[in-house]
Amino acid sequence: MLVHRFNGILHLLAIVLITFFAAYQQLSFWWILIPVFSFLTIAAYGSSNIQANYHLHSVCHGKEKGISLTFDDGPTTFTPAVLDILQKYQVKATFFCIGKHVQRFPEILQRIISEGHAVGNHTFHHSNQSGFKNTAYVAEEIITTQQLIEQLTGRKTHWYRPPFGVTNPSIAKAIKQTGHLSIGWNIRSLDTAIRNEEKLYQRILSRLKPGGILLMHDTNANSVAVLERLLLYLREHQIPVLSLEEMIKEKPYEV
Ligand SMILES: [Zn+2]
Repeated sequence: MLVHRFNGILHLLAIVLITFFAAYQQLSFWWILIPVFSFLTIAAYGSSNIQANYHLHSVCHGKEKGISLTFDDGPTTFTPAVLDILQKYQVKATFFCIGKHVQRFPEILQRIISEGHAVGNHTFHHSNQSGFKNTAYVAEEIITTQQLIEQLTGRKTHWYRPPFGVTNPSIAKAIKQTGHLSIGWNIRSLDTAIRNEEKLYQRILSRLKPGGILLMHDTNANSVAVLERLLLYLREHQIPVLSLEEMIKEKPYEV
């Protein structure tokens, strides 16, 4: 909330000053549009870029050399193929699961846990309106998913990833209530948008960096194909693949 509040106060001050000069110094009131537009631009940027830490703090980079893999929006019918590849290369990843998908594929969620991967909370519905919902709605989305995962695995998720990386004051308040830690990323693969496998692979390679938290999705065949090539590349170049727990020094579950 700090950056958002600072942005608000700064622009409010500018509006007060312009109003004063407009009233007493013959300055046109139209000048007020400049701070209004500037405030809205900064707020829109901060709300849609998780790394800006605009409304809330999100962990977006690791503390260790190497890369951590995260998969959003599952479980789906593509998740088993992702798990097979992770098993083949003996690496651990984190899956930010959607509650309604967990309800559909409970056995896949259990497989994720039994193979030593971590699970995080990615809301129940993953609504594309989630950036406009109130605190009670967001908290309910998180709690329902939390309870479902706990019933199936005995794990109480501590990590939360906001859908689309969009944040707002309601989400900030909701995760404060539920005690979740927001997890972002610093490498966005865009694997749901880039349909060309080679292009996607090259994009990821060009963005690899120490402390990298890679955002992928276990929702399509393209991501599965690129994952195997990526793990082969990381192995050949001796770049370690660390679990998110090792990378950010935080526990995935409440005790
Ligand atoms: Zn998502």
